[in-house]
Amino acid sequence: MTATRIAVVGIGKIARDEHIPALAASPAFELAATVSRSGGVSGVENFDTVEALLAARPDIPAISFCTPPQVRYAGARAALEAGRQVMLEKPPGASLSEVHALQALAAERGLSLLTTWHSRHAACVPAAKAWLADKRVTSVRIDWKEDVRVWHPGQLWIWQAGGLGIFDPAINAFSILTEILPVPVHVTGADLLFPGNCETPIAARVNMNGPDGALVTAELDFLWEGEALWRLEIETDAGTLILDRGGAAMRIDGQPQGDDTPKTDAKIPGEYDRLYARFAELLATKGTDVDLRPMVLVADAFTLGRRFEGPEFIDPTTKES
Ligand code: NAP
Repeated sequence: MTATRIAVVGIGKIARDEHIPALAASPAFELAATVSRSGGVSGVENFDTVEALLAARPDIPAISFCTPPQVRYAGARAALEAGRQVMLEKPPGASLSEVHALQALAAERGLSLLTTWHSRHAACVPAAKAWLADKRVTSVRIDWKEDVRVWHPGQLWIWQAGGLGIFDPAINAFSILTEILPVPVHVTGADLLFPGNCETPIAARVNMNGPDGALVTAELDFLWEGEALWRLEIETDAGTLILDRGGAAMRIDGQPQGDDTPKTDAKIPGEYDRLYARFAELLATKGTDVDLRPMVLVADAFTLGRRFEGPEFIDPTTKES
């Protein structure tokens, strides 16, 4: 198989932790260039802007965007207009309407567009979906709690409008929820806690309903100290399924399913390998995969959410980026 040349835009935490290693291991792709304001990756040609990359490297057909959502749209639009295939980190944009615009452009040009939801590729998510397929869900409790100072040190954009605050990680929970539940859910209300000095919430409670009365409650906290809690507990008419560690572990009625050993060698093992395999599949079939359901739930939480103001948040590691 000939590897497809790909460029990565935005060489920050997720590009270095996951995208670059996944591409190095992928038989389907070859990292041919980066777009980075801070130098990119050693030994790989770097450009200051997406426009400079597009002009200089017509031989690179695919571009993966790892920039913060607020600065994603212009580059992704320019890439599609230049005939390139595009993969977007989650959340796929700063607004639903801009992703709709990218989707329409990709369709018009016959190009592949992938909105990635890495948590859906966690090890136990397919098995959870299969088990739930013929069950009636009565309630779901989501706990998505982590320490922003540990997981997002110095990321100023997360506190600026469009950066989503606690919903930046919580959208991962919503991506799993919308993937595995046999029925759609809708948001019925939310409480959002904003630090006095931030434009995005640091904690939230979101309530949702399923069509047959299932109640979903999400408890979200960005100031959680200690081990991160990334868990969905799903009560059904035939038992309780717990998806833990962001989808990497699963129990049914207390019984571990498969290998339940915590992996310490990688934060989210395998998820990005599977994302790039999916992108390769789309390129081969000229397909598009755009699913905005997780982002719709977040947008609805902002629409319906009651706003509360809390203490200012000062991140000791914050730097202007
Ligand atoms: P990050 O560490 O702040 O990196 C983002 C990179 O984008 C920056 O290092 C910078 O790279 C580039 N950039 C371009 N314009 C920027 C601007 N105006 N402000 C800040 N950075 C700018 O963020 P990240 O954690 O990698 O997250 C990026 C995206 O990946 C987000 O959508 C996030 O939700 C998603 N994600 C993150 C994680 C995680 O664990 N951190 C996990 C999954 C998905 P250059 O210096 O190279 O230009």
